Amino acid sequence: MFKIIDGKEVSSYIKNSVKEKALELKNNGEEITLAVIIVGNDPASRVYVNNKKKACEYVGFRSLEFALPEETTEEELLSLIDRLNGDDTVNGILCQLPVPKHIDEEKVIDRISPDKDVDGFSKINVGKLWLGEYDLAACTPMGVMELLKYYDIDVCGKNCVIIGRSNIVGKPMAALLLEKNGTVTICHSRTKNLAEVTSKADILVAAVGRAGFVTADMVKESAVVIDVGINRNAEGKLCGDVDFEAVKEKTSYITPVPGGCGPMTIALLMKNTLIAAEKQKKS
Ligand code: NDP
Repeated sequence: MFKIIDGKEVSSYIKNSVKEKALELKNNGEEITLAVIIVGNDPASRVYVNNKKKACEYVGFRSLEFALPEETTEEELLSLIDRLNGDDTVNGILCQLPVPKHIDEEKVIDRISPDKDVDGFSKINVGKLWLGEYDLAACTPMGVMELLKYYDIDVCGKNCVIIGRSNIVGKPMAALLLEKNGTVTICHSRTKNLAEVTSKADILVAAVGRAGFVTADMVKESAVVIDVGINRNAEGKLCGDVDFEAVKEKTSYITPVPGGCGPMTIALLMKNTLIAAEKQKKS
């Protein structure tokens, strides 16, 4: 019998523990601040930014929003980041991606001070992750690790297969599973005999971005299936990369979409902001 991994429950647990620590700091006169930058009018980005603000309110952080017009130049954006880097009252900075095409995303990511890079996307933080010395790593894969931990799913020695090799999900996911001594395989669009590879996975993570991509024949009996995908199906309903109804019976644990990995990303953003603030306090 399979078990559904409840991302709402785990994300609440994480946010509540962040809230408790934030309150302790507040009682000592220290407030935690997250600065969120959004450039342009992308509706999906606006929803994400609003959700991040709401999460800040919930855990008791101060949130600063910098909503910049579409025509903002790269220089203007970089100089705002420089200002926030130098502002001791700001603990975490994130720039909602994507940025408009005339702005170099990589430059923006790397301009954020690694100590305030709560998305964990900067080269320094990615390098630290692969060296096993990380404190701020990408929120979505960190969220997956928290789900596994909460449900006591041991990674050590397990065959872990990730479908997807993006810098924000697939690659950091691989580093985190490797760090927990998983035997990790990363698949991508050029992988040959994909189903053969995925059907050997004890833990299968799907981060492809295609509705219903993972079918039952791709999944090993009793596997743990983690669905990172967020897609819309033909009826416009939110769904993951895994054909949930067809796959669930084969699994031991499975994440639903919505309500699986989705809520974890913001919870880990709050946790990363707390980690950044605590680290800045010590230095
Ligand atoms: P990307 O588009 O950056 O990466 C998709 C990956 O899937 C690529 O590595 C690509 O391979 C691989 N892929 C595409 N087609 C195939 C195929 N036929 N066979 C095997 N691999 C394939 O997406 P992201 O990593 O940014 O996101 C993945 C999904 O996760 C999306 O649905 C996104 O919305 C969701 N997401 C969810 C988050 C959350 O909070 N839960 C946060 C971030 C993302 P290649 O590299 O060769 O092109």
